[in-house]
Order: sequence, then C-alpha cells, then structure tokens
Amino acid sequence: MSAEQWAVDAADEILDRCDQLAELTSMEGGIERDYLSPQMAEAYKLTAGWLEKAGIATHIDQAGNLVGRLEGREPGLPALVLGSHLDSVPDAGKYDGILGVVTAVAVAVHLAETGRNKELPFAIEVLGFGDEEGARFGATLLGSYAFGGGWRDEWLDRTDVNGVSMRQAFADFGLDPDKVGEAARKREDYIGYLEFHIEQGPILEQRDRALSSVTSIAAASRYVVTVDGMSSHIATPYDLRHDALTAAAEIISAIDEISQQEGTRANVGEISAEPGGVNVIAGKATFSLDVRAGNDQLRDKVFDRIWKRADEIANRRKVSVSHTMIHTASAVHCDPFLRSCIEEGIEQSEGKEAFGLVSYPGHDGMAVAKLLPIAMLYVRCKGGISHSPYESVRADDVAYGAQAFEQAVFDIAARNINVERVQQLDEEA
Ligand SMILES: [Zn+2]
Repeated sequence: MSAEQWAVDAADEILDRCDQLAELTSMEGGIERDYLSPQMAEAYKLTAGWLEKAGIATHIDQAGNLVGRLEGREPGLPALVLGSHLDSVPDAGKYDGILGVVTAVAVAVHLAETGRNKELPFAIEVLGFGDEEGARFGATLLGSYAFGGGWRDEWLDRTDVNGVSMRQAFADFGLDPDKVGEAARKREDYIGYLEFHIEQGPILEQRDRALSSVTSIAAASRYVVTVDGMSSHIATPYDLRHDALTAAAEIISAIDEISQQEGTRANVGEISAEPGGVNVIAGKATFSLDVRAGNDQLRDKVFDRIWKRADEIANRRKVSVSHTMIHTASAVHCDPFLRSCIEEGIEQSEGKEAFGLVSYPGHDGMAVAKLLPIAMLYVRCKGGISHSPYESVRADDVAYGAQAFEQAVFDIAARNINVERVQQLDEEA
C-alpha cells in the first residue's frame, strides 16, 4: 500500500477515534476532560488499547501521562517522541491536542504493523500528556513540564473547583504524589520531540494550504496596567479632568495600533474603572495586557513602544500610568534540523513548498523544549477556531498530515540522526 493510500485510510480512522475520545467527557452536552480525572483514565485505556493491539507496550508515567513505546532496530535505543495532550478546556472541540496524540498512535501502529520500526536507528515513544490546558488546577503544561524536568512540588497544593488538591487527585488516579518529579526524562534517552496540532489560527485557510511547520512558539508577557487619575463630577471641564478611563481607552487603542504595525499579537481582555459611577469621572482604571511575538526581541520592542506611548498619553491627560508583569515566557524556537524533516514531509505529502508559521498559542513543546529539541506540524482547522465545540478539520488535510508526520520520522532516520548529532545541531542553532 502506498503512503498516500495508507494516510487516506488512516485519516478516517483518526477522525473516528477523535469522535470516540470526545465521548469520554465530564461535561453534559459538551467535551471536558481534566487532568487525573476518571474520564482521562478511560481515555488512556482506549488509547493504550489501540497501541497494544499492534504490540506496542504502554504505561502511565509518574506524572499521569500515557506512554507507548515501540522499539527501533534494537531495544533500548534513545526515542523520538511523537506527542500532544489528551486533556481539554471546558466545552472543548474534538481536536486540540487529541488529534496529535491519535495521529501519533496511527503512525506508531503503522510502523509496527509494517515492521518498519526495525529499520529505525531510534525507538518511538507516543506521549499523551495528561495536562496541557491547565483547566483543572489553573497551572498549565503540568504533564509536559514533568516530562521535561520542570515539575514543581508546590503545584501539589493547588485545588480544583471542588476543593480536591492535586496531591489527592494523584492518589485517586493511583499515583504517588511524592514521585511526580521522577517522571523527568534523561536527555540521553531521547532524540527529540515532534507534535502534530491544529493551527488554532486562520493563516493556512487564508493560504489555501493543509499544512505548515512551526518556526517558534511565541514569546509571551502579561501585565496588569494601572492608570491613576482623580475622580470628580461630570460637571468638571475637560481641561481640569484627570480622567483615568479615557486615558486607558487611548492607551488600549495605541496597543492595538503598535502591535498591528509590528506584526505581533496583543490583547486587552479585562478592564475595570473606579469608582464606577455613571456621572463620575473615573479616578482609576486597570486593564490586562497580553503580548505575543515570534521572538523575545520583537516582544520587547513592542513593549518599549507601548510604554513610551502610554507615558505620552498619561502626561497629556494629566494621569499617571504604571504596569506590573504577571507572566513572562521566552519564545521557544523549533529545532532547525527537526523542522526541516517536518517540511520534507509536508513537501512529499502535499506536493507543495513548505513554510513555517509562528505559533501564538502555547503548546506542550514549550515544556518539552527544556529537555529536547522540538518541532511541530500544523494542520488547517476551519475558520482558525479552537477551544470551541466548533473546532473542525478536513479528512484530506488529516491524511496529508499523517503522511507528512510519518515521512518526517523516516527522514530523521534517513539522515541517520542520533543523540550526539541532534545535540550538535542544537548547539549550532
Ligand atoms: Zn493543544
């Protein structure tokens, strides 16, 4: 059977399996599957069954991630990881994360069934991370941080909406909460990490393309911005006002303008004003700010421009403005070698020149990249919609994706990659 024919058949099965996993939900009439939940245990059972049917060994690691391992040409070789996450946001779609795991399963099973794993100079590990979205405990990437060595025991004290601590949730899941840190993998046991994921944006649709690689997962910083003025009666003439809210409005417009000019992404999603009277000039306004950019320098440049403009606006409007950083993460750059293998796969399956996109959403790869070189394969999703029951993918796109993903594995093997070589490529990059 040709690679194309396999992928066409595999796509139907992949979509059917995404439907099956969507049934394992804690939300009536919708999809929600949380870390360390009974529904996650069911999802692991189902997914492990698909792997085990092809003779691929599975286990659940100390952090509650599902692992399937297919040996290469000899047992015990370092592994290439194919992974994504099996948890979801509340009222989720069927594909964010799930599609990547199910496609990784399809590739591993195909390798096992054709015996081509025995040609590989590395093992394959399928990873279904238990937490990426952070829906249950309000901290994200828990499964992948544990894998990559970034686990922090203080997270165990977090509680879910029902007051269940993470510590208790681990015990209920049959795991020892004091051993989560032991899920951290060793660098020498792995080659790298590949993730297949829906784009969660509209660019592939706009370009009429099924697939792309990812150049980097965006740098992100979040702030709380506070504008201090003075509250007074609506009767106050304009030249005597210290209106915090109109100043905030002007700053927010400037943020939009600057971010568009720089080709980055910014959002102000929350705002409040005090004292909050219809006939009272606002004395204080507070708003959130999230800025994402393909690299750290660009993100920093955008902030420099924003704060400079905010100061100008504040001076002119006789208010003061300050900001507090609440989160910052550097961009994670995809490994050039692994990315070139993904792009080789895209060119073979789609028959068109491959290109890369910046990923503005976060992904497991951010946490895995603390340990391993990573690369990602994006597939078009309808309208760029995600984190919604309206998530949708096309079967022909999934077929292109499955073929490209498998081809990337062969390409890595063909270039006779080994741990030292990836480390060397890492250092060069
Ligand atoms: Zn995801």
